[in-house]
Amino acid sequence: MAQPRVSPPISQADEALAAGVLAGEIGPQDRLTRALRPLVEHSASGVAHPGDADDLAALSLYQILQAEERLLSSWDRRAPLNTYLAVAAARVCVDEHRRFQLLRRMGPDVQRPEIGPGHPSDSDLAGHLAGLPLPQVRDHLLSCARCARNLELAARALAASGGDA
Ligand SMILES: [Zn+2]
Repeated sequence: MAQPRVSPPISQADEALAAGVLAGEIGPQDRLTRALRPLVEHSASGVAHPGDADDLAALSLYQILQAEERLLSSWDRRAPLNTYLAVAAARVCVDEHRRFQLLRRMGPDVQRPEIGPGHPSDSDLAGHLAGLPLPQVRDHLLSCARCARNLELAARALAASGGDA
């Protein structure tokens, strides 16, 4: 049985931003960067030591923008775009921070840490954050510190950056 759809309607501005980025337009790409920057900075400062937060934010923003097409084509519209971007920003900050730490400990040959399968997608986590009833996500969060931390960072970044962008 289909779950009742309780997502808020997606704004025209969000749709236009996603369509423009996917079409390779400069204006929307700049707007995406401006929307992501505060989210990434808040997550980075929640993850890294103060002296490392700026580097982590810059690197994480770069990583996200490298994959902007995949990011926006995976947005499934169950959550507002900014909520989805906050989840993606938090995930990348946490993963990049882990890689920083490994690099520091083990030198430049370290492999990017593998994230095991079985975690909810950014869309699932964003839907949960937007208040959708997603029992599988709720259950997962009880036993996965990584995803719980991701959501906590995303929620704080959203609150600090004023919610809608
Ligand atoms: Zn998880």
